[in-house]
Amino acid sequence: MSKHALITGITGQDGAYLAKFLLEKGYEVFGLMPRRSTPTTWRLEYLDVLDKVRLLDGDLTDIASIIRALIACKPDEVYNLGAQSFVATSWKQPLLTADATGMGALNVLEAIRQICPEARFYQASTSEMFGLVQEPIQSETTPFYPRSPYGVSKLFAHWMTINYRESFNIFGCSGILFNHESPLRGIEFVTRKVTDAVARIKLGVQKELALGNIDAKRDWGFSGDYVEAMWLMLQQEKPDTYVVATGRTTTVRDMCKIAFDHVGLNYEDFVRIDPKFYRPAEVELLLGNPTKAEKNLGWKAKTSLEQLITMMVDADLERVKKELR
Ligand code: NDP
Ligand code: GDP
Repeated sequence: MSKHALITGITGQDGAYLAKFLLEKGYEVFGLMPRRSTPTTWRLEYLDVLDKVRLLDGDLTDIASIIRALIACKPDEVYNLGAQSFVATSWKQPLLTADATGMGALNVLEAIRQICPEARFYQASTSEMFGLVQEPIQSETTPFYPRSPYGVSKLFAHWMTINYRESFNIFGCSGILFNHESPLRGIEFVTRKVTDAVARIKLGVQKELALGNIDAKRDWGFSGDYVEAMWLMLQQEKPDTYVVATGRTTTVRDMCKIAFDHVGLNYEDFVRIDPKFYRPAEVELLLGNPTKAEKNLGWKAKTSLEQLITMMVDADLERVKKELR
């Protein structure tokens, strides 16, 4: 009998990679699919898994739909990846962010408690919870100080996961994942914005790239590596919290240099600073310590930032060429 997994946010970057990973492990994969006016399944198509997963109508803000999905899917494992996940938008739509990103997780936990309390639960927590960092290298014991409605909402979901673990014995794991990217990253995030612009500039259809704070530092990994850590957390004897990161931090500026260098261009000739992209409160530095994940899960990031960024630039070059044909 194959295991059943339900993924919320299956149409997002990590949802698509996780669906592929679980299918390869022999799982039957279900996805909670919010209603949208235009199709959102391009990432599942890109990884060639759309026809192999079962999509169930539902929204994280509607607990009735989550209950229906759990009854239909009878999951062994539930991965809660659905969220309003873009930090900058969370100041523009703070209540929606709190609803989907914060309360959404509680809706899933409460539905599991009532329908399938044996199911194992993964919560997509984030390094954004460290925000104004209280330690230069952040681990599972670093105090939190979120800096955006997104970070605050995720912190609520993180503590709810721990609370349902301690109160109701739910097998709830929280993965505090540092930034992770891929050719499937949303275009509004800085890595993808840069790699898309590099492709367009190289192919002569864009002249410059406007960015905000390029001195911010992030610990960037590859989404395809990180979804394995999610799965490993749910295969352990006990539920726990883990930091998942590479242990290397780089400025946005140096990430730009890697991307432009790859196509033989100098980033300084094209990058322009536009204060429009500054944030009301910035997270200046993120650098994770993945020792616990390495020790307990046997997990380690495999893809370097150089490999990741060149993979993304190459994919964007292909996309833009296709668009131009
Ligand atoms: P994406 O933004 O690519 O995907 C988010 C997914 O959530 C989409 O499928 C989206 O659907 C869905 N979604 C949004 N609102 C709702 C809702 N109300 N009900 C149901 N589904 C909804 O994010 P990623 O794949 O990059 O990230 C996955 C998770 O991990 C997110 O929770 C994110 O916050 C978290 N995270 C991500 C990190 C990263 O660097 N990528 C770092 C740490 C945590 P639609 O597209 O139709 O809106
Ligand atoms: P985040 O860490 O989840 O907020 O991921 P992002 O990719 O959105 O942003 C990473 C960092 O890049 C943040 O410190 C941003 O302030 C910085 N940054 C600088 N310019 C831009 C930009 O034009 N877009 C985005 N998204 N981020 C930018």
